[in-house]
Amino acid sequence: MQTLIINAIQAIDHALTEHEAEIAELDRAIGDGDHYINIKRGVTMVQAMQAELLNVDADIALQKIGMKLMSTVGGASGVLIGGFFMAFGKHLNVAFKQNSACANVQIAAGFAAGVESIRQRGKAELGEKTMLDVLIPVAEMYTWMAANTSSNVEIAKALKLVATTGMLSTKDLLATKGRAAFLGERSKGHIDAGAKSCEVMIHAVCDLISEGA
Ligand code: ADP
Ligand code: MG
Repeated sequence: MQTLIINAIQAIDHALTEHEAEIAELDRAIGDGDHYINIKRGVTMVQAMQAELLNVDADIALQKIGMKLMSTVGGASGVLIGGFFMAFGKHLNVAFKQNSACANVQIAAGFAAGVESIRQRGKAELGEKTMLDVLIPVAEMYTWMAANTSSNVEIAKALKLVATTGMLSTKDLLATKGRAAFLGERSKGHIDAGAKSCEVMIHAVCDLISEGA
């Protein structure tokens, strides 16, 4: 799984670069325009940890990634996504010790624990025009799929669809959390930048998993 993490970081980096203009523009429209820079900085910091990450188990690697993002990436997204990886890693640590279920079930539960940490830290729910409008449905679908199929291709396909639907749903929502909330009704009509970047990252990892990486 360590190799998957390293490959995922590379894939995420490429995908974000491809969507730079779109993500940057979305945060300029209803935020302060720094979202792309924040997450790209996070990816660069994590890429520099490659050797360190390959030397530890996946649960520890995820926690190290989380701590690095929390301490070096600015904006709401640094703390939230950093917290996601820390909670994800902590959950896997417990699951690995118990070693009860198959890998996908454990990973899905870890992903869901990470999303729960964002929900608690950001005090946000589904429908508030944030990254959670992508992450909550993806966590739910992943949990369901992991329990019901062993096909990574099927899982990746379902998660990509749910991520895109969630991202698009933010367009007409009223922002009630984050900077966009200051705009009130004017936040409507724009996709949330964090929802878009999460969708791009989830697609990148799903494509990697479908290819059997
Ligand atoms: P900042 O808003 O501090 O400039 P970023 O631009 O990096 O930070 O990230 C903005 C994104 O963070 C938003 O598009 C949204 O998806 C997400 N976000 C902001 N506040 C919250 C929150 N309270 N809960 C969940 N996600 C949030
Ligand atoms: Mg911003």
